[in-house]
Amino acid sequence: PTMAHSQALLVLENFIGGKFVPCSSYIDSYNPSTGDVYCRVPDSGKEEVEAAVKAAKDAFPIWSSKSPSERSQILNKLADLIERDLEAFAQAESKDQGKTITFARTVDIPRAVHNFRFFASSILHHVTECTEMPTMGCVHYTSRAPVGVAGLISPWNLPLYLLTWKIAPAIACGNTVVAKPSEMTSVTAWMMCKLLEKAGVPPGVVNVVFGTGAKAGEALVCHRDVPLISFTGSTLTAQRITERSAAHCKRLSLELGGKNPAIIFDDADLSQCIPTTVRSSFANQGEICLCTSRIFVQRGIYSEFLKRFVAEAKKWKTGNPSDPTVDVGALISKEHLEKVRNYVKKAQAEGARVLCGEGVDPLSLPPGNQKGYFMLPTVIAEVKDESCCMQEEIFGPVTCVVAFDTEEEVIKRANGVKYGLAATVWSGNVGRVHRVAHRLQSGLVWTNCWLVRDLNLPFGGMKASGIGREGAKDSYEFFTEVKTITIKH
Ligand code: NAD
Repeated sequence: PTMAHSQALLVLENFIGGKFVPCSSYIDSYNPSTGDVYCRVPDSGKEEVEAAVKAAKDAFPIWSSKSPSERSQILNKLADLIERDLEAFAQAESKDQGKTITFARTVDIPRAVHNFRFFASSILHHVTECTEMPTMGCVHYTSRAPVGVAGLISPWNLPLYLLTWKIAPAIACGNTVVAKPSEMTSVTAWMMCKLLEKAGVPPGVVNVVFGTGAKAGEALVCHRDVPLISFTGSTLTAQRITERSAAHCKRLSLELGGKNPAIIFDDADLSQCIPTTVRSSFANQGEICLCTSRIFVQRGIYSEFLKRFVAEAKKWKTGNPSDPTVDVGALISKEHLEKVRNYVKKAQAEGARVLCGEGVDPLSLPPGNQKGYFMLPTVIAEVKDESCCMQEEIFGPVTCVVAFDTEEEVIKRANGVKYGLAATVWSGNVGRVHRVAHRLQSGLVWTNCWLVRDLNLPFGGMKASGIGREGAKDSYEFFTEVKTITIKH
C-alpha cells in the first residue's frame, strides 16, 4: 500500500499472486459527498489481467485439492478479520461510495462478513445425487468439482457486499478468482486484500485487478483461461459481456437491473407499509437493484397513502454521509446525479406532479458538502405507465406513485416492463398475496415486508433482470462442474 501526494491521497495497487503490484497508469476516484478526488485507482488492462489470470491458474491445483473444511476455516478467519476492522471498512465504503456511514456500518460491512461465514458453513453441507437401476445392475451418482479461474465483476452500489457475495462461494467451492470491482468504488476490495494472507488464503487464490469496465473488465471477459464470469451490474453491460464471451462458450451468471413494483391493496396495514415502502424506495439513495420505483396503490386508499407517504419521505434527512443521523447520502457521481435529475425533469415535462424532493423542496447542505452529488428523496405522482420514469431503471432516490382498481389490472401493469427482479405486495388477505405473488414476473416477491433475505434461497431476476440465481445451492451449482458417474456391479 502506498500513500502519495502531499494530501496523503490514497493510491491503490492491484493484488496479484499474493502481492500488491503498482500499475503503469491510474484513474481518479472521487468522494461523492465532497466532489474531491479520494484516491487513485490502477487503470489496468490486458497485461495486468494476464498476470492475474496466470497467478490464479497456478494457485488452482493446490486450492482445489484442499478439503471443504480446510477452505471453510480460512473463510471464517477472513470473516473475523473483516469484522475486527468493521469500522475502518465502513468509513472507507461511505467515503468512496457516498452512502451513509450508518448504512455502511449496519448493512454493507456486516453483510460482507456474513457472506464469508455463510459460504464457509454451506460448503460443508452439500449432498450430491445418487440413483439406482437394479434391473441394469447400475448405480449412478453425481460428483462436483471446482471449474477453474472465475472472473468476478461487481458494481458500485454495494461494493464490498456484492464482491464478497461472489468471492466467498467461488473460493469455498475450490475455484481461484480474478475480481474486478467497479472503478468508482475500489477501496474496500483493496483493504480486504491486505487481510488475505493473515486469513490463510494462499497467494493467487484471490487476485484483484482494478480499472474500468472497457479495459480491465473486457480483458477478463475475453480471456480464454477464464471459463466462468459472475457479473452484477447493468443490463446493457451484461449484453456486451454475453457477446464478448460467446466466442469462448463461457458460463455466465448475470445479476442485473430492476424496475421493481410495490403493490398496495386497500386492506394493507399502512402503518407498516408506509415506512417500509419509503425505505424500499430511498435506502442507499435508491441505489439498490431491489429498490421500489413504481408504487401501485388501490384507488380507495390512494389519497391517504400519498399524503402519509410524502410526509414520511420528507422526514428523511439528506446530507453529510458521515453524520450518523443522516438517512440519504450522496449519489455515486456527477454524471449519475444528472441522469437521475433528468428523469424528474422528463416526468414534469410529461405532466406528472412532483410532490416532494428535487426542484420542489430546498436542499441545504453543510459547507463541506456543497460540491457533493446530493438529491432529496423525490416522489412523483400521475405518471403514465409508458413514461420512461415508469419503464426505465432510474437507480436514484426517485419513486413514482400511481392508482389502480383491480387485482387483474395491477398484475398486468406491474408485469408491463422489461425487468423482473423484485416486487413487494401489501395486503392482509393471505389468499390474495399468494395469488398475486405467483403471477408476478419477478425473481423475488416480498409480501408485507422488504429485503428480508435468507441466503440459502435463490436470488436473481427474470427477463432483463438476469440469468441464473445466486444462493447456497445455486452458487454451488454455478461455481462447480457436475459429472454423472455410472457404476455397473
Ligand atoms: P455497470 O454495468 O456499469 O458496471 C458494473 C461492472 O461492470 C463494473 O465493475 C464495470 O466496470 C464493469 N463493466 C462495465 N463495462 C464492462 C464491459 N464492457 N466488460 C466487462 N465489464 C464491464 O453497472 P453499475 O452502474 O456499476 O451498477 C449499477 C447497475 O447494477 C444497476 O443496473 C443495478 O440494478 C445493477 N445491480 C444489480 C444487482 C443484482 O443483484 N441484480 C445488484 C446491484 C446492482
